[in-house]
Amino acid sequence: VLPESCPGIKFDERGVCNVCVQFERQWGGFRERANVDARRRELENIFDSVRRKGRRYDCLVPLSGGFDSTYVLYVCKKVYNLKVLAFNFDNGFKSDFAEENLKNAVSSLDVDYKVFRPDWEIAKRLYALFFRKTGEFCTPCNIGIWSSSYITAKQMGIPLIVMGSSGKIESQLPPGCHVYSWSKAYFKEVCTGEMPLRLVRDYLHFPESLLENTARLISRRISVFDKARIIDLPSFVDWNVKSILEELETKMSWQHPQNRHHRIDCILEPVRVFLIQKRMGFSAAETYSTLIRNGQITREEALRRTIDEEREAAQEPPEMKVWMDRLDLSYEDLEGFQKRSQLPFIPFREKMRKTAEKTFRKMLIQNRLRILAK
Ligand SMILES: [Zn+2]
Repeated sequence: VLPESCPGIKFDERGVCNVCVQFERQWGGFRERANVDARRRELENIFDSVRRKGRRYDCLVPLSGGFDSTYVLYVCKKVYNLKVLAFNFDNGFKSDFAEENLKNAVSSLDVDYKVFRPDWEIAKRLYALFFRKTGEFCTPCNIGIWSSSYITAKQMGIPLIVMGSSGKIESQLPPGCHVYSWSKAYFKEVCTGEMPLRLVRDYLHFPESLLENTARLISRRISVFDKARIIDLPSFVDWNVKSILEELETKMSWQHPQNRHHRIDCILEPVRVFLIQKRMGFSAAETYSTLIRNGQITREEALRRTIDEEREAAQEPPEMKVWMDRLDLSYEDLEGFQKRSQLPFIPFREKMRKTAEKTFRKMLIQNRLRILAK
C-alpha cells in the first residue's frame, strides 16, 4: 500500500518492504505472539505493585477523547479497577467529538479529571515556529502531552502513567523518511534564537529522549522517569480495532464522525493530512499499511480506502483557514514548506547517541539469541 515513491522504501526479493520486515522483527515474531499470557501477567504485576503503594491515584491516563486513550481509560478503570486520574492536555484545537467523549468518559466511569491548558500565546507561537522552520506543527502538542503528564504525575505522586500510543499501532515509515524527533535537544534547537527556553518549560519536562532511553531499550515496554513508570497499553494487550470500537460505542457511547474513528480528537487533523499529502505525495497509505501489518484490515480494503482518502486529502480542507487565522500564518508562510525538514535541527550529539543505541540494541538481541541457543 505504501507507494514506491516513498523515501527510503526498499523491497526484498519477495516484494516485501523494509517497513514490514522491521515490523515483523519487532512485533510479529514468534515470541511476541506466543507470549500473550506472559504480557498480561507482566501488566497485572505492574498494576498490583502500584496498588500496593496505596497512593491517592494508582495511575494517570493522558486522555484526548480519541479512540486509543478512551479505551485505555476504560481498561484501567473498568477492567482493572485502578484509581485513575484522567488527564487532558488542551492543545487549543480540541474537536467537538473529543469534548463530548471526554465529558462522557469521565462521568460514566466516575474518575477524577484534570485539564492542563498551556499558555495560548506560547502554544500558538510554538506551532507557528515549528511549521515555519520544519514544515510540521504537531511536535509541540505531542511533546506537551508527555511533558505535562510527567509534571502532573510528579506533583501528585502518581507512580504510573498509562499511554495509548505505541510503536506497535502508530504509523510506520522507512527510517529517515519522516523524521520525528522526540528529544529535548531537538526541541531546544528549533526554539533557539526565537523563544527563550524559560517560556517553554511546560514542554521540556521529560528525559533527554522520549522514545530511546535505556530502560525502554531493555524492556521495550516500560520506561521510567521521575520515579514514575510509563507504559503503553497496546504493547501489553491485543489491540483489535474492530472489537475496541464496538466496546467503546456500546459501553461508553463513544462518538466519532461517520466512516472515521482514527485521530478524531483534533480539528487540525485534515490540515496535517493535507500538508503531508502535498509534501510526500501520499498520506492515508501510512495509516492503512500499519493496520494491515497489525492484521486489522485486508490489503484490498486498505487499498480502496487509501485511494479514496488520498483523493480527498489533495483538496485544501476548510480547517486550513481556521489554522492559519489562529496561528497568524499567511500563504507566504506556506510557500516552499514541502522542502522544510526536521533534519537540520537534530543535533550531532543526538545522531551519535542514536548510532550508539542501535549498536547496544543489536548486542541485546545477539545476547538473547545466544541464551536461547543454549
Ligand atoms: Zn510493506
